[in-house]
Amino acid sequence: MLRIRRQFGQRFAYRLSKSPTLLSDLKLLRKRHVKIRRVRHLWGAYSVSTTKTIYIGADGAVTDQLLHLAHEAYHILFGETPEPSPRRMSRRQYLRMMLDEEADAQVHELSVLKEFMQAGYHLPAHRRDDYRRYRFGGGRAALRKALLATETYSDELYPAFYRRQYDESCN
Ligand SMILES: [Zn+2]
Repeated sequence: MLRIRRQFGQRFAYRLSKSPTLLSDLKLLRKRHVKIRRVRHLWGAYSVSTTKTIYIGADGAVTDQLLHLAHEAYHILFGETPEPSPRRMSRRQYLRMMLDEEADAQVHELSVLKEFMQAGYHLPAHRRDDYRRYRFGGGRAALRKALLATETYSDELYPAFYRRQYDESCN
């Protein structure tokens, strides 16, 4: 935690400490030597498993940054989709695994969101709506289905994005 405070400041570290899920993620990330970097002018977050690095946008609200961290931590720590390769799997299998993994990462993020709500933090309305929709509107299966019609940060729908990833890495 000292390291987090030094790297990201008091507010970030204090809020992180209110989420048991993030605390346990952080422990695992440290154990696996995953680096966390905050980047200016980046919206959202992404992670690179080969270099074991998580990049989170530094411009948004602290709570959003922490939720993005939780999301990427899931991909790095628990994601099981291998690098796409035509020898290992078909494009369709890759798509299915990535959609499953993304839905699970969102569930993980929402469990951190719930912990922040329980800790009394005020969250933006759209975040609270996300949680309500998940809790009362069909759970993980609904999240998974919604991905089919959701755009990624690169303005493509998720299935198109994953298909392109597969095609690019198989060329
Ligand atoms: Zn994701």
